[in-house]
Amino acid sequence: MQIIKEAINQNKEVEYKVAKAADDLHQVNTELAKEVAQRLVIETELSGVKHDLADVRDDLSQSQAKEEESRNVALHDALTGLPNRVLFEERLDHGLIQAKRHGWKLAVLFMDIDNFKNINDSYGHDLGDKVLLTVADRLQSATREEDTVSRWGGDEFVCLLLEVKQEAEVTRLAELIVKRISEDFKFKETVLSIKVSIGISIYPADGETADILFKNADKAMYKAKKTERRVVLFRDCVFD
Ligand code: GH3
Ligand code: MG
Repeated sequence: MQIIKEAINQNKEVEYKVAKAADDLHQVNTELAKEVAQRLVIETELSGVKHDLADVRDDLSQSQAKEEESRNVALHDALTGLPNRVLFEERLDHGLIQAKRHGWKLAVLFMDIDNFKNINDSYGHDLGDKVLLTVADRLQSATREEDTVSRWGGDEFVCLLLEVKQEAEVTRLAELIVKRISEDFKFKETVLSIKVSIGISIYPADGETADILFKNADKAMYKAKKTERRVVLFRDCVFD
């Protein structure tokens, strides 16, 4: 009898332990389910933040592209795509700083097409534009990549040559430009021969500031217009 009682008690104890373990398991499961639910909430919020971040990144790169585009428009000539005077002046200022620091020479070439108005008047403004585009191409192909060819406005172009070793090279290049540009322009049935005049100033001999170099190249160009010479170096000018 005693043995039976003990067996019953033991059984009850086991049942109690099983029930307790089941209870504990239930509690653990409930907490686990809570944690999973919280984790899901956090993951959802995180993916929302990631989306927002991607949107911000997209907006930023779009506004950077727009800024780059408007800087490009502000610094380039609409017809030829060449640097305009603002960009030319920036590069000239920078070139002068480098030239001063390293003791280099630098040249400014001011170029104007001769009798360009006649081309517009005789063949129309559109053909005049094509002439300007061809002049821009020929100028670029005659110069090095590190040089700047700029459309100053109208039929005027300006070139900046950096790290000039020999001054004679500059005059030779200007003569080559005159020759290249004077090659026949063929537009459908029309064949034209274009002449240009170029004035040169070289840092430091013909001026030490951007302003003076530019003014002196311009004066030399006007001198070239009045003479048979198509290329004139500022210091060779004799002004009446
Ligand atoms: P010069 O030999 O003294 O240089 O005389 P020019 O006839 O070339 O006259 P000038 O350089 O003073 O004038 C340039 C002309 O270029 C005036 C203007 O009608 C014309 N022009 C200015 N911008 C443009 C343009 O974008 N396209 C065209 N087709 N013509 C332009
Ligand atoms: Mg002209």
